[in-house]
Amino acid sequence: MPIRLLPPQLANQIAAGEVVERPASVVKELVENSLDAGATEIRVDIEKGGARRIRIRDNGSGIPKEELTLALSRHATSKISSLDDLEAILSLGFRGEALASISSVSRLRLTSRTAEQEEAWQAFCEGRDMQVMLEPAAHPQGTTVDVEDLFFNTPARRKFLRTEKTEFGHIDEVVRRIALARPDVAVILTHNQQVVRHYPAEAASHQDKRLHQVAGRRFADDAIFLEHEEAPLSLRGWVAPPDACRHQSDIQYMYVNGRMMRDKLLNHAIRQAYGDALPADRQPTFILYLNLPAKDVDVNVHPAKHEVRFHFARQIHDFVLAALKRVLLASMPAEPEAFQH
Ligand code: ADP
Ligand code: MG
Repeated sequence: MPIRLLPPQLANQIAAGEVVERPASVVKELVENSLDAGATEIRVDIEKGGARRIRIRDNGSGIPKEELTLALSRHATSKISSLDDLEAILSLGFRGEALASISSVSRLRLTSRTAEQEEAWQAFCEGRDMQVMLEPAAHPQGTTVDVEDLFFNTPARRKFLRTEKTEFGHIDEVVRRIALARPDVAVILTHNQQVVRHYPAEAASHQDKRLHQVAGRRFADDAIFLEHEEAPLSLRGWVAPPDACRHQSDIQYMYVNGRMMRDKLLNHAIRQAYGDALPADRQPTFILYLNLPAKDVDVNVHPAKHEVRFHFARQIHDFVLAALKRVLLASMPAEPEAFQH
C-alpha cells in the first residue's frame, strides 16, 4: 500500500484509543475542561452507564461562536501556545485532543455561550472529514457537551464496555476524585435521571464538609489532618493512623498541583512512612494534596495524564516521607519504635 494521510476521522479515532478508554474517561476529560473554563457548577448526566449518553453542563466561560469549530479539531487548544507554556502547565488540559477524539467515536454536540454573546451556538461533526456544522441554540452562559452512543462506530471498543453498573461505578469514582480536588465547585451527578451525588460548593474554610461527603464519616473522623511546607513544596490533606487504615485501597487519593495521580514514587514514600506499624491486612489510607512549582513537574507523560514525572524525584519522595512520618509518629505515642526503620 502506498503511504497516505489518514482521513481526519480515522486519525482522531486512533488518538481516541489512547484517551477514551471507557465512558469514565470521557467524563474526566469533559469535567476537566469545565474546571479549566472556571466553572463553579458542573452537572454530569449519565444514561445507561454512559453508553447511551454522557452530558456535562457547566457555567464556565463558554466558547465564542468563532472558536467552536476549532474546539472540535485535533491539536486545537486555548491553554498553551509555546514550549515554555508546556513546561509549566497550570491547566488540567493542554493536548487539544479530547473533544476531537471523543467526537470521532460518538455523536457529540457542543453547545456554548460566552458572557458577551446574546445567542448560544451548537456545533457537531459530520462525516469522515469531520466537517463541523453550526446551528443557533438556547443555552445560558457556559457549555454543554452532549455525548451520545459512545463507540457506536468503533464496534471493537464498544464490545469492551462492561455492564451499566460497572461503567457507572467508574464514572462515580472519577466524579468523587474531582469533587475532592475542588471542594469550591458544586457537582451534581445523575444516572438515568436519578440524582446520585450532590456536592454543594464549599467555602475554603469548610473543606472538611466535602471530605465527609466523599470519603465518608469514618475516614473523616479517624484521619489526621496534616499540613507541611518546605518552600517551594507543600503537602496537606488527611492520613489515617495505622489502626484506622482500610482493608481496601479505595481511599488513596494523591493530587499533584490539583491533578489526581497514581504515582509509584509517592506511594512508596507513603508506604514507607507507615513502616511496620501498618497491619499486614491494611492499606495506606490517605487524601493528600502535593503542590510544587509547575516547572518542576512534567505532566506530559501519558495521553490520559495519569502520570507525572518529577524533576527532583528524590527530594519530593523524602519530603512526603518526612511529612507523613511526623504526623503518624505523633498519632501513636505508645509504640514509636515501629516507625524507626
Ligand atoms: P484541551 O483541554 O487540551 O485544550 P480539548 O479538546 O479538551 O483540549 O478542548 C479544546 C478547547 O475547547 C479547549 O482548549 C478550550 O478552549 C475549549 N473548551 C473545551 N471545553 C470547554 C468548556 N467546557 N468550556 C469552555 N471552553 C472549553
Ligand atoms: Mg481538555
